[in-house]
Amino acid sequence: MTSILLVAEFDEQGDVTQGALQAITAAKSLSDAQVTAVVAGDASGSASSLAVDGVVTVSAIAAADNGIFEQVTADLAALVVSSSPDVVIFSKSDFGSVVGARLAFRLDAALAADCIEISGSGGSVSVTRPVYGGSALAEFEIASSPAVLTLRAGAFEPTGDTGSPSVESHDGEATVEQRALVSDTVAEAHESVRLEDADFVVSGGRGLGGPEPFSVLTDLANVLGGAVGASRAACDAGWIDHSHQVGLTGKTVSPDVYIAVAISGASQHMAGCSSSRAIVAINKDGDSNIFKEARFGVVGDWEKVLPSFLATVRDLKA
Ligand SMILES: Cc1cc2nc3c(=O)[nH]c(=O)nc-3n(C[C@H](O)[C@H](O)[C@H](O)COP(=O)(O)OP(=O)(O)OC[C@H]3O[C@@H](n4cnc5c(N)ncnc54)[C@H](O)[C@@H]3O)c2cc1C
Repeated sequence: MTSILLVAEFDEQGDVTQGALQAITAAKSLSDAQVTAVVAGDASGSASSLAVDGVVTVSAIAAADNGIFEQVTADLAALVVSSSPDVVIFSKSDFGSVVGARLAFRLDAALAADCIEISGSGGSVSVTRPVYGGSALAEFEIASSPAVLTLRAGAFEPTGDTGSPSVESHDGEATVEQRALVSDTVAEAHESVRLEDADFVVSGGRGLGGPEPFSVLTDLANVLGGAVGASRAACDAGWIDHSHQVGLTGKTVSPDVYIAVAISGASQHMAGCSSSRAIVAINKDGDSNIFKEARFGVVGDWEKVLPSFLATVRDLKA
């Protein structure tokens, strides 16, 4: 293992994402390989203190939010061909999931998505990733190069290190022909803390019975400095926007504490939260699957449990 290319993302404020900081930790754990971060051309300033060996700026990545990513993929593919990294690492964000898959296809490379552990030995990289909706973990050894990996949010500690990498720019490819047209984009509204980055997530399910109780969940999340999640049943019912959905077909979260309120704990839901450090369940059915996954649980009606839980947390925080 000699070189790693890490595609680092930045948020709307221009700050490097937690996912990128986690990816740096993961990349550095692989070996003493050279780690180069690829960033949007306009993020070169923010990237100049990343704890990596080098930074390459690619202008097309700045246009990553056009939702198509054809230009980005073409430019990244050219960069990978010219620099021949052994491993290309993305966070498992919307961007990383889409571009990682496209890049692997374009390069005819192996793709391992949603990795929670990685290690390298000799010329191969080994990864562990959830399979069957999180019901089992599978280990894969990738012997071909480059291996393209996306990393599950929260599976690695964000690096606290900083560095002074060399920064160079990479010329983009000739403009690729766009085969699809984005006619409109809508910015996803989110609280001050992104669901994927939150240390505390308070999620609600069908047992809440309607949209109103989500205001209590929001109060609790705000007191904890966290974010609100939901089961697909709650989102499908229209009680809360799908951007809050946690699970197999929603977001993956790995907070310190995941509070599941009136959620049964179906495997498809757990696929998005099972790597939380502690799960707290509030459910009136003591046989509910969520109690098999929870470290702490209260068997009871959320309407009775949650207000006193919130009041106690408020007192403790005061
Ligand atoms: C391909 C596929 C993908 C899927 N992807 C996802 C996904 O990404 N995310 C996801 O969440 N689901 C997903 N699902 C759906 C999943 O299978 C479940 O149907 C869903 O998670 C159930 O949501 P729930 O727990 O809110 O509802 P339910 O299963 O109906 O559970 C409601 C719970 O609330 C409890 N309850 C009721 N009243 C109260 C009360 N007053 N106080 C306390 N507890 C109460 C009940 O005991 C029950 O346990 C997917 C399904 C499929 C087939």
